[in-house]
Amino acid sequence: MKRATCVRLLAGLALMSLPAMAQQQDFSKVEIKVIPAAGNIYMLEGAGGNIGVSAGSDGILIIDDQFAPLAEKIRAALKGINQGKLKFVLNTHFHADHTGGNPDFGTEATIVAQDNVRKRLAAGSDIHGLKTPPMTGPGLPVVTFQDSVTVYFNGEEIRVIHYPHGHTDGDSVIFFTKSNVVHMGDDFFAGRFPFVDLESGGSVQGVTAGVEKVLAQIPADAKVIPGHGPLSTVNDLKAYHHMLVATTAIVQKQIKAKKTLAQIKAAGLPAEWKEWGSGFIKTDDWIETIYNSLTQKMPDHPVNTKHH
Ligand SMILES: [Zn+2]
Repeated sequence: MKRATCVRLLAGLALMSLPAMAQQQDFSKVEIKVIPAAGNIYMLEGAGGNIGVSAGSDGILIIDDQFAPLAEKIRAALKGINQGKLKFVLNTHFHADHTGGNPDFGTEATIVAQDNVRKRLAAGSDIHGLKTPPMTGPGLPVVTFQDSVTVYFNGEEIRVIHYPHGHTDGDSVIFFTKSNVVHMGDDFFAGRFPFVDLESGGSVQGVTAGVEKVLAQIPADAKVIPGHGPLSTVNDLKAYHHMLVATTAIVQKQIKAKKTLAQIKAAGLPAEWKEWGSGFIKTDDWIETIYNSLTQKMPDHPVNTKHH
C-alpha cells in the first residue's frame, strides 16, 4: 500500500487517536483507583493506560505512567500503597497515554523500555495528524533492550519481554513471575476491539501471535493487566485471542473473495462481536484495521529520527 493511501485511510480513524482524547480530557476530575492484583502487585486505573505496580521492601516499580497532569495523583496513590521510593518505570510502548508521566517520574526513577520506545519518544510522533513533541531529558528511557530484560526487585524476577510488531514496534509484556501477574500493555484491550498502530510498526497478526505466545506460558490462574479495561483473567485473554483470530479470518476470507473494504464493512461482523465494538474502536474501525494490516506488506516503518 502506498503511504499516502495509508495515511488517508488512517485519517478517517481520527477517533482512534489517544492523544486526541488526552487533549480533550479534564484531568482534574480523574481519580486514581488502586486495584490489588495479586501478592504485592497492583493495578492503577485513572485515565490512559493501566499502570502496574510492584510495591515492597525494595521500594516501588511502576509499569507505564499515563498522562503528565496525573503525576501528582499517581504519586499520592503509590504513597497509599507503600512509603518506599520509586526506583523503576517500565514503559510497555511509546504512546503518550502510557508515557506522559515520564518527564516527571524520570527525575527520580530509572526508565526502562525496548529500543524502539526510546527512538520513537526521542523523535516525537504524529499519529493521524496529532503530534506529540520529541521527549527530552529525564522523560527518555535510560536503559533500553532489544528482546528482553529482567529486573530483580521486591523478591521476584520481573521479566520484560518484547513481542515484535504488535500494537506498535516496541511493545513489551511484563511477567511478575512469583506474584503470577502479567501486564500486557496495549497488546490487550480487555473485551474491546484494540487500537493497533499500523503506522508505528504495529500489526494485527503480530498482536495475535504475541498473545498466543503469552497464553502458552502463563499459568491458568494468572492475573492479567490489560493496557485498557478491567483487571482480567487468563480466560479473558483467551476470549480476546479468539476474537482476534475469528474476526481476522472473516476479513481475510472476503479479501480472498476480492471484496473491497467498503463491501467488507457493509457486510459487518457477526452479532457475537457487537459488544467488542462498543469501546473507542468501533466495528468499522476494526474491520479497516484488519484489512489494512492484512493488505499492507509486513510493517516497514522505520523510525524517523533526525540522524537518518
Ligand atoms: Zn497504545
